[in-house]
Amino acid sequence: MTQEYDDRRGREGDCMSAPHTRPLVYLDYNATAPVRPEAIEAMTRTLHTVGNASSAHLHGRAAADAVEEARDHVAALLCCNAEEIIFTSGATEANNMAIRSGASAARNIVISAVEHPAVAEAAASTGFHAATVGVDSCGMLLTDDLEAALAVGPALVSIMAANNETGVLSDLTTIAKLARDAGSVIHTDATQMVGRLPVDLADIDVDMLSLSAHKFGGPQGVGALFLRRHSPVTLQPLASGGGQEKGRRPGTLNVAGIVGTGAAAAAAAANLDQEIREVTARRDRFEQHVLAAVPDARLNGRADQRLPGVSSLTFAGAPADAVLAAMPYLSASEGSACTAGAIEPSRVLLAMGLTRDEADCTIRFSLGYATTDADIDNGITYVADAVRKVRASLTGHPA
Ligand code: PMP
Repeated sequence: MTQEYDDRRGREGDCMSAPHTRPLVYLDYNATAPVRPEAIEAMTRTLHTVGNASSAHLHGRAAADAVEEARDHVAALLCCNAEEIIFTSGATEANNMAIRSGASAARNIVISAVEHPAVAEAAASTGFHAATVGVDSCGMLLTDDLEAALAVGPALVSIMAANNETGVLSDLTTIAKLARDAGSVIHTDATQMVGRLPVDLADIDVDMLSLSAHKFGGPQGVGALFLRRHSPVTLQPLASGGGQEKGRRPGTLNVAGIVGTGAAAAAAAANLDQEIREVTARRDRFEQHVLAAVPDARLNGRADQRLPGVSSLTFAGAPADAVLAAMPYLSASEGSACTAGAIEPSRVLLAMGLTRDEADCTIRFSLGYATTDADIDNGITYVADAVRKVRASLTGHPA
């Protein structure tokens, strides 16, 4: 994230009390992406209007029309029908709805060892049997183990489309075929993939898919669940008390947030090819230079089967918390931001066979649509200097 970006949002100085003299670099798009200008404009316009999308009067109908236009944009991004989109407060809620609804039909769940807690904990909370399928050292699902888990009988299979810590992409075509052959229903948490790579639900054979607006330049606090028309899954609302979203997600709609989500979806769709090219090129340049400048550094996850913007790097002997503290001008994550603060090492990295020490020395860098060449240049210098400094402080040798 460039200084200019911060200034635009008036956030200069917010994140650090000391005046900073070096450019800030934001490489944490998997935690959240900057809101796209198109979304800010659409939300601001909407916030200047009044209307509850459930009201029958003209003001209400205008709000409802704005929501439907946004639904069309989200559906276009996913190549599905607008009526298959249910707006939620984010991917956490969408995942919980999907798991609860899918599991109550199948009474048996299969997930991967690298799912986000919003899937793993939702599955555990159902009380149904939940089998966990492992991944290989590259982070790819062990399909033989999936087959074995499915031999028990039909299940709700929930396998993420792209991993939040490594960016590794699942082979959804193979997974869906195995699951269908076993008579299962399928959900995928596509939170990190939507708006970053093409998603064509005419081709991806899943019953349900979760997404989150703030990962592709929409506002925080809005997401959606795709539920395929004619799917055997009957959606079970998590709350009671209103008929919104055809009774499937009660509660007054976040009209401005949904409109911003639609605008972000439209912008992401319009720029997708170019963004994929640019983000991949910048990520590769960042990665190559960091790996060349820092000895004993390595990449996690299958390099050729990754999201364009993600680079999970292990710097042997340099704990991630110390490295991040040594480069306060660069924002990146230790493991996953959603579990940051917990002392537990990353479950994802452990499932891939990293030792606890290696997991503790791993940083996730994630770039996106607004990352600049200057961010990459500065980022390479910050990371190389910080790792050198941390290693020197731990070994007593000068950096
Ligand atoms: N699933 C994945 C893979 C994620 O990365 C995240 C966000 N970190 C979520 C679900 C939760 O999304 P939200 O913030 O919209 O609740």
